Amino acid sequence: MNIILFGPPGAGKGTQATNLVDEFNLYKISTGDLLRKEIEKKTILGTKIKKIIDKGHFVSDELINDLIKKVLLDKKINNKLIFDGYPRNLSQAKALELLLINNNLKISCVLCLNVDKETIVKRILGRQICSNCGSIFNEYFNPSTMNSHKCDVKFLQKRSDDNEKTIKSRIETYKEKTLPILNFYKKQNLLYEVNGMAKIDDISKEIRDIITTIET
Ligand code: AMP
Repeated sequence: MNIILFGPPGAGKGTQATNLVDEFNLYKISTGDLLRKEIEKKTILGTKIKKIIDKGHFVSDELINDLIKKVLLDKKINNKLIFDGYPRNLSQAKALELLLINNNLKISCVLCLNVDKETIVKRILGRQICSNCGSIFNEYFNPSTMNSHKCDVKFLQKRSDDNEKTIKSRIETYKEKTLPILNFYKKQNLLYEVNGMAKIDDISKEIRDIITTIET
């Protein structure tokens, strides 16, 4: 099974992808995470990527498709993939289709998390990521607590692109470049709409039900 998690920035793709990884033994491919890893290395490429991300623009398709190609070389994770934040435009969607065909793989479903703009902004502004374990929290909706998170609070960090100015640009880019992909997958009968406004556990349940139906 290979799944694409689709939705605007702040829709909760990362949170849901992490839940699915544990439950269905999947391997998460988040292009955003891969890019942030490159930034952490403080390479010349990382510095270039940071500038692009902080403006809320897209990194080049060439770079992204190369990242995905490298990940797909690991045959152990084939057919266990969950894509978060990729593909992000039509050209990436077509490139992924080719890559999958070449690796004898296919997409099982595209889960689209529907969230309104007001919620997106709140989710992005409240987002906190633990730099120690990678867990994602939200100051307002899903705060880190003693029960839910074992790491020290000092590890909780904000992303540099999670600010009011960058959000605007990210939402515009999403509407203009990412949304058109939906039609591409709709035509292939792969698209499933999910209520991304619900509580985290309820969204997970809706997704689990869809996946279970597809699997059987
Ligand atoms: P994310 O973590 O998915 O919210 O991505 C953070 C930022 O990384 C985005 O706003 C883009 O600047 C960049 N990015 C992530 N994935 C892609 C992609 N598939 N194509 C282009 N840029 C991307």
